[in-house]
Amino acid sequence: MFRKTIPIVRSVKVAQAFSGRHASTAASTVQPRICIVGAGPAGFYTAQYILKHLDNSSIDIVEKLPVPFGLVRFGVAPDHPEVKNVINTFTRTAENPRVRFLGNLSLGKDVTLEELRQRYHAVLLTYGAEQDNSLDIPNETLPNVLSAREFVAWYNGLPGFENLNPDLSGKSLTLLGQGNVAVDVARIVLSSVDELKKTDITEYALEILARSKIETVHLVGRRGPLQAAFTIKELREMLKLSTCATEWRADDFEHVEESVPNLPRPRKRITELMLKSMSEQQQGQHVPARARRFQPIFCRSPVNIIGREKVEAVEYVVNRVKDGRAVPTEQRETIATDLVCRSIGYRAVSVDKHINFDERKGCINNAGGRVLKRNLTGSDQTIDDIEDKYEPGLYTSGWLATGPTGVILTTMNSSFGVADLVCRDFKNNVIRMNGSRPGLELSGKPYVSWNGWKAIDTEEVRRGAAKGKPREKLTCVNTMLQIASNATM
Ligand SMILES: Cc1cc2nc3c(=O)[nH]c(=O)nc-3n(C[C@H](O)[C@H](O)[C@H](O)COP(=O)(O)OP(=O)(O)OC[C@H]3O[C@@H](n4cnc5c(N)ncnc54)[C@H](O)[C@@H]3O)c2cc1C
Repeated sequence: MFRKTIPIVRSVKVAQAFSGRHASTAASTVQPRICIVGAGPAGFYTAQYILKHLDNSSIDIVEKLPVPFGLVRFGVAPDHPEVKNVINTFTRTAENPRVRFLGNLSLGKDVTLEELRQRYHAVLLTYGAEQDNSLDIPNETLPNVLSAREFVAWYNGLPGFENLNPDLSGKSLTLLGQGNVAVDVARIVLSSVDELKKTDITEYALEILARSKIETVHLVGRRGPLQAAFTIKELREMLKLSTCATEWRADDFEHVEESVPNLPRPRKRITELMLKSMSEQQQGQHVPARARRFQPIFCRSPVNIIGREKVEAVEYVVNRVKDGRAVPTEQRETIATDLVCRSIGYRAVSVDKHINFDERKGCINNAGGRVLKRNLTGSDQTIDDIEDKYEPGLYTSGWLATGPTGVILTTMNSSFGVADLVCRDFKNNVIRMNGSRPGLELSGKPYVSWNGWKAIDTEEVRRGAAKGKPREKLTCVNTMLQIASNATM
């Protein structure tokens, strides 16, 4: 729902839902009011836990976009629909009468942290990590050098990225980085468009992918096969792609086989799979005619992007691996390419001047989810008194708290942990319940309610059905707001 005033009917319903419930907090007459900033997995999982363990609490989820779910909607690859099933659990949480979804409101733009802290007993910052890291090498700003973050945002329909139009007219794409995000990009580029057509990938991405001339994708990592960052599931999917052959470089696997018996089990399994695939390649098996090629390349660090008008090649320093670390050698290698996509991780940013932010690590200074006072960093162990150490009632979870590592399950576990801390702090009076709190003042704020999101959802599913897809995502915020504004309360 997109309204300029507080939806009164909803407020009454929420108030009724709270009345007559037993409260387990110390100050039982005051309703704990909590604001969660960010409607991604961290936001929804903390909300789910608090609803269950803190009777009588009410939660507002403030989200920058008119639509919820964060990277589950805008990061997870379209051909992994099973991963997106968590949306059903998030929806149940959002539809709890003690929760309000307030979309299209951005911390740092539409609301300030100070305002939230005055209007709620506790504030949880879970707004994720939306920037990407750069390589800091020459020519990184050339046309045809993108980040995986942009490429993923483009095919997944994040508003603002619909006109990225990656140039897929060349023959080769180089992915710098070997994590699962890089493998997602490789798979999307190398998959058959007929398969992708059945997913919720954006129509404009399908059109460009259908005209793609890319034949080879290099997946380049600093270290060796024994340190590969992608996981076995993602590798298996690549090996099964009917449209493409995986080609390993035998030199990368020198001495790898003899290490296998001593490896821990997960590392052993993925290494055995790489070795098996390489042996099949050497015997000429599994190479379909008309093959596109997926080429993992190990022990190379990019030092220079070569090209004038656009990318022509990447120059690498050759590394050797010592004690699991990449050590540069004198040797260099230059590999031609037409498009470069760096995939070397995400980073969070501070969106409000009152956030105690660690610029170096790219996350909020916190200890187990409690935000540290502004003059303190994560390494301060000297202060015992909780009140001297932490910002009262201010917490963080998810990628904003931990840095951008881990999957949805990791985010769930850490968010449940932070939510448990919040519940205990309420029950132990660490969070002061000195009077009720009004919640966010919404008049004049063009927010989108949960019903507004449901209207957008219905429209996306309708547009998708016409094309045989689960949904066609809307990418224009104004269109989203228009549709949400027509929704009933
Ligand atoms: C490309 C990619 C693919 C992935 N694929 C998988 C996968 O297949 N399986 C898996 O398990 N994990 C996957 N992950 C990891 C998973 O997405 C993360 O673990 C998880 O999304 C982190 O949750 P979060 O809530 O911390 O952040 P996010 O999901 O980023 O959520 C943050 C939310 O905060 C909102 N926000 C941002 N700024 C503001 C602001 N100023 N005010 C208000 N709201 C704001 C954002 O719009 C967003 O909705 C993937 C990650 C990426 C990057």
